[in-house]
Formats: sequence, structure tokens, C-alpha cells
Amino acid sequence: MIGVTVLGATGSIGVSTLDVIARHPDRFRVVALTANTQVDRMYEQCLSFKPEFAVMADDNAAQQLADRLKQAGSETGVLSGVENLEKVASLPQTDYVMAAIVGAAGLLPALAAARTGKRILLANKEALVMSGQLFMDEVSKNKAELLPIDSEHNAIFQCMPENFANGLDGVGVNRILLTASGGPFRTMPLSDLKHVTPEQACNHPNWDMGRKISVDSATMMNKGLEVIEACWLFNTTADHIEVVLHPQSVIHSMVAYADGSVLAQLGNPDMRTPIAHAMSWPERMESGVESLNIFDIARLDFEKPDFDRFPCLRLAFEAVNAGGTASAILNAANEVAVQAFLDGNLSFLGISEVIETVLGEVTGHEASSLEIILADDASARESAQRCIAVPGRSAI
Ligand code: NAD
Ligand code: MG
Repeated sequence: MIGVTVLGATGSIGVSTLDVIARHPDRFRVVALTANTQVDRMYEQCLSFKPEFAVMADDNAAQQLADRLKQAGSETGVLSGVENLEKVASLPQTDYVMAAIVGAAGLLPALAAARTGKRILLANKEALVMSGQLFMDEVSKNKAELLPIDSEHNAIFQCMPENFANGLDGVGVNRILLTASGGPFRTMPLSDLKHVTPEQACNHPNWDMGRKISVDSATMMNKGLEVIEACWLFNTTADHIEVVLHPQSVIHSMVAYADGSVLAQLGNPDMRTPIAHAMSWPERMESGVESLNIFDIARLDFEKPDFDRFPCLRLAFEAVNAGGTASAILNAANEVAVQAFLDGNLSFLGISEVIETVLGEVTGHEASSLEIILADDASARESAQRCIAVPGRSAI
């Protein structure tokens, strides 16, 4: 039996992961589940999957969960706090770690999984965006396995030849074509963008996701973060990655080869496909996702992205080309700005304005240690908060 720890179990990816696990009770057992504050969902998940440990990042939530599980006669041990997120990512009985915490909060537990040589099923792209070199070094030093869950990166992984890790030139790969739906505002008149609400931004046309990544999809920062993620995962540079708007989200990304071949991975937009792929790799297993009906699709469209409409995409390319901690600064500013937008304290267009200001204000460094990365992350968060507090900035 393969022991699995699911970090971020109560979120969109966590729930899909448990759905896949439930289809294969003879193959996987849940060792630990973690969440931030959502006690109700975690309680149900603990009763269904009977993990050894449940970790709530929040102390009050952990106490509530412990009381309710005790009353129900559950044997799951309840823990709290960040150190215990790292602990359950490192347990000897854990073979696979689903890294599905959203944002920078997922970095330390994902790193703990890398340091203890686990198979890491990486959904938490922010971890790689923040600390790409360091993370990849820990993976190789400790013989961990890193399998991408992000649908595009999982598609690219499926289209890559073996041995891509030493560089794409050596294996005849010319370019990665990273597809993007363009989110809910791809065709909205530019003048209307300043009035869009969190509800509109979270109403993604093809995918049902957590609120932070939904806003990132609407600004296309999600694609920017994915460009950075792809550079690290596939040992390449941003000039080998082309973003392709593909509104149907049927092709999940493509790889272009030196001989003119372009390989694509297609499927219905359901995260259980990449999750099942990464959990069963190099084999295949059933995921619960219906097979794609190619006749229902009728057509596939492709467009170049518009950097004026999506300034966050431009900022992400600038950050990855700048190198060092610039990507961590971009990520931190984005997290603060998106939260402010979701809380009604920043307009939609203010998100990119805040990030651009922070990138100008906070000096990056070589990303040579976790301390340096976390210090620049903290400076970027402070700078973003100051920027949001400027009178008039919040006007929606
Ligand atoms: P979500 O908001 O639905 O879930 C986030 C999970 O993280 C929850 O379980 C929450 O309790 C936990 N969490 C949040 N803050 C935390 C903290 N401070 N400490 C500990 N735990 C915390 O998010 P999601 O949509 O499932 O996305 C998770 C990650 O996967 C993100 O990095 C996202 O970019 C990536 N991803 C998601 C999708 C998708 O379809 N949802 C697709 C590709 C990549
Ligand atoms: Mg994606």
C-alpha cells in the first residue's frame, strides 16, 4: 500500500485527490490530511479516510476538530501549526505527498517532502515560483520525485521525451506551448475591467477552482506563475515557452520538437486526470473522468495573448528574466493584492498596479538561501500593503 499525505485536503485539489484515492482503496491509504481552518470538511474527510493524523494550521480549528473527532470515536490524532504540516509531509510511512496548499504557506511543507525523498505531487506552483533552484536542488539531492499536477505541466510532462531533465536541446525539444483559457475576461471590453467584482473574477468558464487561483486566472498571473513553474520543472528559459490562448481548455499544453512534430495532451478539464496520472505514473489508472468526446468539441481555437489586457503576464515574464528573488517578490505582491481584491479593498486593475509598484520598490537578491527568499517575500508583502493603503487605490 502506498501511504499518502494530502496537504490542503479541504481545497479544490485536495477534494479531487481524495476522490481519486477513494477509487483505489487497494492501492493507496491516507496517512495524513491537512487544512487551514475548515473544520466541517476535515471532520467528514477524517471519518471517511481514517488518517493517522489530521493537521489544522489554525490552533482553534484544531481544538474544535479534536473535540468532534473524539466524540465520534475516531482514532485520528489531531495536530496544529506549521511544524506539524512539515512533520506529516516527512513521515516514514508517507510515500507520496500531494502539495495542494495554496500560496507561500505551502512552501515549507513541500520542501520537507523534498528533503525526505518523497514522491511530490506538486499543485502548489507558488512553492516553485518562490524557490525554484533551491527546491529542484533538494529534489535531486534527496532523490525525491517531482510530478506536476498543474494540468498544463502535467500535459507537458506527458508530451516530453525521457531524460528531459538535462536540458531540452539535447532531447530535440524546441519549444513548450503553454495553453491558457484566458479566464472570464478574455473578451470583455477593456473599459469594463475596472468594475469587475470578485464574484465575476471567480466565475471561471472551464475550471472549478479555489478563489486565489481563480483570480490569478482572470488576471492571467496564473499563466505567468506557470511560465516560471515550467522553467524550473523542465530546465528551460522563458524564451522557450510560448503562451497560447486556447479558450476551450481541451488541449492542456503542447511540446514542439526539432523535426516539426508537435505533441499535445487532450482531455476534459477535470483535475482528477493529472492527479491520477501523477499518482499512478509510469502506469495509468482510472480517475473517474469521462473520456473526451472529440465529436462534441467541434472546434479548437488559438490566439496570442494580449499583454495590454493582461499586464500580470508581462510582469511575470519580466520577473523570471530578472532572476534571483524577483519571482518570489512578484508572487508575494500578487498574494497580498489578490487577497485585498477578494476582500473588497482593491480594484481588479489595482492588482497589477500594486505588483508593478512592489517590483520597482523591493530590491531582489540572488535566491541562494531560504532565509533570503523569505526575507524578500516579507519585504514585498509590506510594500504591497503600503501600496494598497494609498488613498483612492481601493476604489472599485
Ligand atoms: P483552495 O483554496 O481550494 O484550497 C487550498 C487548501 O490549502 C485548503 O485545504 C486550505 O485549507 C489550505 N490552506 C490555505 N491556507 C493555508 C495556510 N496558511 N496553511 C495551511 N493550509 C492552508 O485552492 P486550490 O484551488 O485547491 O489550489 C491549491 C493549489 O493548487 C494552488 O497552489 C493552486 O495554484 C494549485 N492548482 C489548483 C488547481 C485547481 O484546479 N484548483 C489547478 C492547478 C493548480
Ligand atoms: Mg494550470
